[in-house]
Amino acid sequence: MTTIAFIGLGNMGGPMAANLAKAGHQVTGFDLSEDAKARLVAAGGHAVATVAEAVTGADVVVSMLPAGKHVRSVYTGPDGVIANAPKGALLIDSSTIDVDSARAVAEAAKAAGMLMVDAPVSGGVGGAAAGTLTFMVGGEAEAFERAKPILSAMGKNIIHAGGAGTGQAAKICNNMILGISMVAVSEAFVLAERLGLDAQKLFDISSTSSGQCWSLTSYCPVPGPVATSPANRDYQPGFAAQMMLKDLKLAQEAAQSSGAATPLGAQAAALYAMFCNSGHADVDFSGIVKYLRGDA
Ligand code: NAD
Repeated sequence: MTTIAFIGLGNMGGPMAANLAKAGHQVTGFDLSEDAKARLVAAGGHAVATVAEAVTGADVVVSMLPAGKHVRSVYTGPDGVIANAPKGALLIDSSTIDVDSARAVAEAAKAAGMLMVDAPVSGGVGGAAAGTLTFMVGGEAEAFERAKPILSAMGKNIIHAGGAGTGQAAKICNNMILGISMVAVSEAFVLAERLGLDAQKLFDISSTSSGQCWSLTSYCPVPGPVATSPANRDYQPGFAAQMMLKDLKLAQEAAQSSGAATPLGAQAAALYAMFCNSGHADVDFSGIVKYLRGDA
């Protein structure tokens, strides 16, 4: 049994913390929301009133927060994790945040003599509840080895991406591929409609041809060909357009600060911003096909 402090008990963090408690760990959680804390208590954990209280005496700290500014303040603030956790504690941030913030917080942890990994996830709320998340882990090998058994209670694929920040880099690179490919597949289905080509026929042909990709074969943006895709339930998420936009913006920030040319990533970010701004932020990201068709 490990003593684990869990900071950020929202849609993702709540079920992740519950899985740690289910695996027999002693989980002490903190969130700004009283409801979120009550859910942890119902799942077998303890809830406390401050970050400092949560991390005092913890072997491991896990966080699942909205964005880089929250992670910076929770870790490096005077009442935060680094100032209050035991020196030997392992720090794991699973939030999806900008690479610069991830590296800055990892530096601060290192300066305080603590091991830290960035470990963002793929798999969504369903994966968090089922304990089947994929973790992309950035940090030193020693930190990765210590994090692995903890992450295994919340996920099924745990991959060491490299040094600090590379977990976040993997997450935004992957989701940039996903955003661009979803737009590409959607454009193809809209063009097919205009040309009188049946959607199922395009699927049958492209899914066994060079246009094959996950956005087509696992998450087809039009109803019919893939029974499990959100297109069959009026584009209820799934993965909301605003989450895709967040990740595409992070990719653009990283491209700018590193000097990488990502013109299609920029176009995808612009399209998802227009889609979200037109009242579709909560729609599944594959709903972009309706926008491209002109009926959203
Ligand atoms: P959420 O908004 O449901 O949860 C975030 C929680 O953090 C909230 O309960 C909020 O009260 C809490 N919080 C904010 N500031 C805090 C602070 N200073 N101290 C303590 N608690 C604080 O968000 P979520 O959907 O759980 O997402 C969390 C992270 O996971 C995000 O970075 C998101 O991009 C990433 N993510 C989400 C999904 C998904 O499908 N929801 C999938 C992959 C990754």
